[in-house]
Amino acid sequence: MHGLQSRLSQALRLALLDRLAHELNADLSSADVLRRVLNAAAEALGTPYASIVALKNRQLLAAYALGGGERDPLPSIRRVLENGLAGFVMYNYRTIIINDITNNPLWLPLADDPLSPQAGSALCVPLTHAGDMVGVMTLAHPATSYFTADAVHLITLIGELGSAALSSALLLEAAREAEKRYATLFDDVIVPIIVTDLQGHIRAVNRRACEFLGYSREEMLRLTISTIHRMGTGPLGQDRFQSLQLGHEATFQSKVWTKDGEERAVQVRAKRVFSAAEGDSIQWIEHDVTSQLTLERLRQDLSAMLYHDMRGPLGNVYSSVQALRKVLGDGVDSHVKTLLQVAERSERQVRRLIDSLLDIQGLEEGKKLLNRANTALNALVETAVEQVKPQADDSKIQMRFALADDLPALYIDQDMIERVIINLLDNAIKYSPSGGNITISTATSGGEVYFRVKDSGPGIPPEAQLVIFDKFARVRQRNMPHGVGLGLAFCKLAIEAHGGRIWVRSNGVGSTFTFALPVRAPATGELPPLGASGP
Ligand code: ADP
Repeated sequence: MHGLQSRLSQALRLALLDRLAHELNADLSSADVLRRVLNAAAEALGTPYASIVALKNRQLLAAYALGGGERDPLPSIRRVLENGLAGFVMYNYRTIIINDITNNPLWLPLADDPLSPQAGSALCVPLTHAGDMVGVMTLAHPATSYFTADAVHLITLIGELGSAALSSALLLEAAREAEKRYATLFDDVIVPIIVTDLQGHIRAVNRRACEFLGYSREEMLRLTISTIHRMGTGPLGQDRFQSLQLGHEATFQSKVWTKDGEERAVQVRAKRVFSAAEGDSIQWIEHDVTSQLTLERLRQDLSAMLYHDMRGPLGNVYSSVQALRKVLGDGVDSHVKTLLQVAERSERQVRRLIDSLLDIQGLEEGKKLLNRANTALNALVETAVEQVKPQADDSKIQMRFALADDLPALYIDQDMIERVIINLLDNAIKYSPSGGNITISTATSGGEVYFRVKDSGPGIPPEAQLVIFDKFARVRQRNMPHGVGLGLAFCKLAIEAHGGRIWVRSNGVGSTFTFALPVRAPATGELPPLGASGP
């Protein structure tokens, strides 16, 4: 009986395949898979020469060879993959048998290579899995026409077992590699990152997070995100946490507390993620914005100081004009009178601007309104109208009134709301054409008091209506008066600080600005007894 034939009895083949299948079942590395598959194949067919390679996108990942002793098989394997038998099989996805290698162009004459016989026959099989080329196995024997159909059949079966095992080993290795890369990246990024489970228990932290918060990694892994953010209070309330659990992303300003109890300002980006290591989790990226906030506070303090310092000289301008008025007496000629009026009006305008700038800052910081008093809105409207009357007269703008006489008193900061009204009237006059008219009305309904001014200006396009209440928002139109875009921002902050609302309606001709203030001020504990004047 042919030597090979006796090796390939049915029983032996089955035993071999069964053993190999068991051997390949474990959690093997790709190198182990290559070794076991090649050993089994070479043993089954009795071939002294054998090699196997693992491939990805036709690139060599790993190799193993028998018959070359201690010699590094890689240089020869690279050559045969480039232009030898293994390369041909890799490109053609076909099993090739060479019965006589001496005159076959696919068998490279590697004269000095003990891996490669100079005479005999060879068998080369592709290892494919789900259509992908994952490797190639080559067996050679010094006898010509050594490989029978049965041999090819057995090698094909071994190849199939090997391909599946190799493919899963390669996948596992790629996943581990990716995970390692991610872990290195995670640890090396300069932004603190915390990963928690969906209940907020910390599962992973990077080096920067430990440095930033002053805890060791082990300590952090025993904490929950609520220890760090003192959750449930401030911007990280229960609602936000629930929305994160549901998969919504969130960006918000918050504070964290370090191990030493120090408070740091952070811009947090949190979202639900899935990672193989942690499962369903929430990733918290914590940008430290403490120094930005310090800088911003410094800038605000500086501007507040400037605004305050401007008040002094402005007060001098005011008292000088008043003194001049007195000195000149009543008999002064009308030209000088007009000049004095212009000086007074300009001083008032600048003072209002400074006060509003200071108010914007205070209101943005959430300062409480301290100068509230019970106020009749119509009286406030009348004072405001007096102040803007000269501008209206200059532009020949007629002011019409529809003031309700049954308005309940409002508990408000009079000076602030007066400046809101002046701002709105100012705009209405500024944007109305010469000879136009504006209508000023007040009303009450549903526990609110309304103030409304309707002008005959150019109107405000719908898209601009959404932004004009923002700071520095201006609608760019030709031949329009200049401004800085702070007036309406102040109005909105002031009205909202009183628990009210402000809005604009404009559909083509003119604009109507309205604000509504609640008759009962929001419960702040500051309300005086009925009928008394405010603090
Ligand atoms: P400023 O008037 O200094 O530019 P405001 O905050 O008072 O700043 O107004 C913002 C913008 O809103 C103005 O630039 C203007 O484009 C628009 N606007 C405000 N009031 C009116 C109005 N009555 N009619 C037309 N446009 C207006």
